Amino acid sequence: MTALRRSLLAGNWKMNGLTQSIGELDQLISGVGSDCGVDVMICPPATLLVAFAKATTGSCVSIGAQDCHPKPAGPYTGDISAEMLRDAGAEAVIVGHSERRIQHGEQNADVRAKALAARRAGLLAIVCIGETQEERDRGQTSEVIVAQLVGSLPEGASGASLVVAYEPVWAIGSGLTPSPYDVAEVHRAIRAHLTERFGLEGDKIRILYGGSVKPDNAESLLPVANVDGALVGGASLKAEEFLGIIAAGVKTSRSPLRT
Ligand code: PEP
Repeated sequence: MTALRRSLLAGNWKMNGLTQSIGELDQLISGVGSDCGVDVMICPPATLLVAFAKATTGSCVSIGAQDCHPKPAGPYTGDISAEMLRDAGAEAVIVGHSERRIQHGEQNADVRAKALAARRAGLLAIVCIGETQEERDRGQTSEVIVAQLVGSLPEGASGASLVVAYEPVWAIGSGLTPSPYDVAEVHRAIRAHLTERFGLEGDKIRILYGGSVKPDNAESLLPVANVDGALVGGASLKAEEFLGIIAAGVKTSRSPLRT
């Protein structure tokens, strides 16, 4: 039997947002109302975690972080552990975002260690994977995706501890997206890997699509089989735009055709 997976729409604010940005969060909280209908999360920069966690208390919006150090504490100047993020009010952490992989040289083994740290601290790990334009052009998408899954996902992963975000690097911030057909193909391959490796639990792990999701393309991307929500960058910075994507997610989750 196929698991019923609740959609997750997560906003990655990246290195954007100052104290005054809480107005955008307040607008989001009032826009979703008392029952979001899907899981809604905002991942602000670490400086805003405490304030955002406080502001979302009692609402259906949760808070996530954007990265963590694998160790719980120690001499790692400038780094933040998963335990500290949890202490600040985060319920999840993004690990292995392509901007971390590319700009900070993070390898699959680093991402796996961070995903394990998230689990140790009781945070949901959102593990990002995705091919570059060159890899896609060379027809290596499946190969790259599977290698990233093999190297980045820890053993014993479960639907409660892990989410996979498929984010083609070339689609991030570019306004380009793969066709729904291409998304379906990659998500099917990810699901096959998850169920083969984690059995029934692999069917419960949510797979998000990320890369230039906007209100106007969300309606065609979110209903795709094995798309269990989205990781949204730029369009999550404005409450109005993110609310448009959330509305598409709610509509999809109610559709009897969703698989
Ligand atoms: C991201 O960086 O995770 C992302 C999906 O960005 P954008 O939506 O801006 O392409």
